[in-house]
Amino acid sequence: MPTKPDRTPVLIVGAGPVGLALAGDLGWRGIGCTLIEKTDGAIEQPRMDMVGVRTMEFCRRWGIADWARDAPYPGDYPQDCIYVTALNGYELGREPFPGRVQEKCPPQSPQKRERVPQDMFDPILQRFVRTFPHGGLAYNTELIAFGEHADGVTATVRDTLTGESREIAADYLVGTDGGSSLVRERSGITMSGNPALTYTTNVMFRCADFSALHDKRRGYRFIFIGPEGTWLTIVAINGGDRWRMSIVGSADKVHHGDADIRAALTRAMGREFDYEILSVMRWVRRELVADSFGTDRVFIAGDAAHLMSPTGGFGMNTGIQDAVDLGWKLAARVRGWGGRELLRSYEVERRPVAVRNVNEASSNLGRMLSTRSRKPPPEIFEPGPAGDAARKDYGEWFTQTMRHEWFTLGIHLAYGYDSSPIIWPDGTPALPLETATYTQTARPGARAPHAWLPDGRSTLDLFGRGFVLLRLGGDAPSGELIRAAAVAADVPLDVIDLDVPEVTALYHNRLVLVRPDGHVAWRADTEPADAHALIEVVRGARAWASLDRREGDMLPAAQTRA
Ligand SMILES: Cc1cc2nc3c(=O)[nH]c(=O)nc-3n(C[C@H](O)[C@H](O)[C@H](O)COP(=O)(O)OP(=O)(O)OC[C@H]3O[C@@H](n4cnc5c(N)ncnc54)[C@H](O)[C@@H]3O)c2cc1C
Repeated sequence: MPTKPDRTPVLIVGAGPVGLALAGDLGWRGIGCTLIEKTDGAIEQPRMDMVGVRTMEFCRRWGIADWARDAPYPGDYPQDCIYVTALNGYELGREPFPGRVQEKCPPQSPQKRERVPQDMFDPILQRFVRTFPHGGLAYNTELIAFGEHADGVTATVRDTLTGESREIAADYLVGTDGGSSLVRERSGITMSGNPALTYTTNVMFRCADFSALHDKRRGYRFIFIGPEGTWLTIVAINGGDRWRMSIVGSADKVHHGDADIRAALTRAMGREFDYEILSVMRWVRRELVADSFGTDRVFIAGDAAHLMSPTGGFGMNTGIQDAVDLGWKLAARVRGWGGRELLRSYEVERRPVAVRNVNEASSNLGRMLSTRSRKPPPEIFEPGPAGDAARKDYGEWFTQTMRHEWFTLGIHLAYGYDSSPIIWPDGTPALPLETATYTQTARPGARAPHAWLPDGRSTLDLFGRGFVLLRLGGDAPSGELIRAAAVAADVPLDVIDLDVPEVTALYHNRLVLVRPDGHVAWRADTEPADAHALIEVVRGARAWASLDRREGDMLPAAQTRA
């Protein structure tokens, strides 16, 4: 007898950091979901270790920023990036960074990036997901097949321990199932870009006294430059006894065997030393973005939607932004107040960000490997004054080149959704995209800016659950028309009065409408001419472009300030 399928509003496939973040965000919004993962969740090779500033802002919203801050990566471990010929060879340059407890928040954020490798961060997200009784997290459960129909999705999943199959019926399915996503493949979604930048071999090894075996002091990342240019990196995975060596490779297919790995370790140290190899991962560095991010009921996010070089540490952080963009939209659809444009806007908003970040990651790789075309002069490997002078020249050039990768606040914060059908533009020109830093703006589509409030909270602490209408300054219009239109459409909206000159200056207008994901949806100094139309657009019932707009709906640029 066929059994009745289990039912869930949202089925999420793949409990990597992106699937966990989406399940956590939905749980936080009170939406039930089921998250399945084909493995037992153990992480043999932590890949990501840099939790970016925007991801930390999401953690703050979810109430788990302290969990990430208190992760066991030692707070005083220096985060220097050091360029060497070998650990017992010459130092060519160094970008010093303090340990994470000494690093300050940038002025643009109440948070800072954190060093939390995946085998520490995934358990934090798992713990977050498990705090919600309406979320189910099923390990050893693999998606085998699914079918999409007008009202939802029916998925077949298999218990990988018993081999038993069962069906799950869901309103929506999200594939956060990584680079070789079954959800993407079965949805017929192709990817564009470069499928093989390098064939790279990662080796996790244990060596408790690693830092005592050389004179380059403790550091987070060592980049090794030989006569052929950059060939290897070593990263301090836990700020203690575990390290990850990456033999960078090239676009030529190669298989590094045990002898190659041991030879690389000896060459990197500059002599033999004792270590224990824990695991080896051979992987292909890709530069790919999915041509579509989903259909009406099935979506992809994270590595399933974009694959980028780890140079920059953008992969997971970009994926978690996808999850946050999708989370409130799915919640709105499940609750009934979200219109059809909401989920359509997911691809419009997120795909350009993925393209930008994928390209930036590849440019970072190009910079790291620029030593292969601008080869080091032979003297840098020789002792003596001529060698010293050559090392200084070459090292300064490389140190300067690599700064682009280490300072990327603009990648984490400057992304915006100003072309989205659910954003109401105000006619102000876009600011130039920045990489190294970020000039905060409350232009529609942008992340609503951070400023500290007199009570010690950040403006960011005001956003997240529903829409927020900020009334800024003592003479702000009442916002009553917007509030009434939101109530009529069942859209959750809080009106918050702030009379803090710094916030008023930063947000530039007296009424600012902020979405549940913390992006500005609309702003003006007066009530909108048609508050009903505004709410219809921001809740995704109508696309902004479809409106028959009248003079005055969008303030001319001269009347607004950027
Ligand atoms: C060396 C390296 C360093 C990196 N460093 C950083 C960094 O510092 N910062 C950063 O942001 N990013 C970094 N990245 C990238 C980052 O690791 C990935 O972008 C991130 O892990 C993607 O998360 P995800 O959840 O989308 O996919 P994944 O982590 O790949 O998770 C997908 C999950 O889906 C499961 N799955 C697959 N198919 C099925 C199925 N049919 N049924 C059920 N489950 C399934 C898989 O078992 C897996 O657990 C790095 C990557 C590498 C290689």
